Amino acid sequence: LKSNFSVVQDEHGEMDGFITVLSDVTEQEKVEQERREFVSNVSHELRTPLTTMRSYLEALTDGAWEDKEIAPRFLDVTQNETDRMIRLVNDLLQLSKMDRKDSTGLFKEKVEFVEHFSQVIDRFEMSRNEKNTFSRELANQNFFVWIDKDKITQVLDNIISNAIKYSPEGGTITFKAETLKKQLLVSVSDQGMGIPTETVDKIFDRFYRVDKARSREIGGTGLGLAIAREIIESHHGQIWANSQEGKGTTIFFTLPLINQKRRKN
Ligand code: ADP
Repeated sequence: LKSNFSVVQDEHGEMDGFITVLSDVTEQEKVEQERREFVSNVSHELRTPLTTMRSYLEALTDGAWEDKEIAPRFLDVTQNETDRMIRLVNDLLQLSKMDRKDSTGLFKEKVEFVEHFSQVIDRFEMSRNEKNTFSRELANQNFFVWIDKDKITQVLDNIISNAIKYSPEGGTITFKAETLKKQLLVSVSDQGMGIPTETVDKIFDRFYRVDKARSREIGGTGLGLAIAREIIESHHGQIWANSQEGKGTTIFFTLPLINQKRRKN
């Protein structure tokens, strides 16, 4: 709290009264501090791939380019780092777009969620040649929601790819769609490493990662869930996580339902 104190004088210079202005600067300072932290995070996230690339390029220039074994590997590293920077900048641009215009940038349409969700899950099931079992517990009902399909797909992609990324071999990933207080409740559960209880809410913050090194190694930007939260909130829904270290994580989100649910067939 900041206070400004001024004395009011009459025409003879006598004190006539005083005015105190109290202003709440804590909120302002918090925003300012968050902004500084964000800029410092962005700089750091960009500097890491850039310094890696510089050292590999230096090695190539110093003669590694002539080595038929090493050269392709080094070029591969610089390519990966470039890809990561492109992902990061794209994520940043998307966040800044969303910061500017709330929900006005959304192209909403009426969508039956269970079918849409199934298609997204199918895509993951087809494209992975890996080890996780998928279990679908989708209600045998129509759930109509008013959504920007591409944006909600992006949310699902982020959540599902995290579940896969942070899961062990053989783990089951469970998908649910049900109702909660007249809202649609969607959840994705994994049996992965989990998240420490005290940090579970922070995973939706920009650049927050439980394990920075590991996340970078798997190619994460640390922005996926921050973007997911922006998108869900711009659809008037909520997103949160439950997790137990060593046991697994569930990510939940809600979306307002637009219609009475109807039985299929
Ligand atoms: P990243 O690109 O690092 O995956 P996200 O914003 O998608 O960024 O996630 C933020 C962090 O939350 C991750 O780095 C990870 O530590 C944690 N996290 C997200 N999903 C899971 C999950 N299913 N299991 C364990 N940790 C998770």
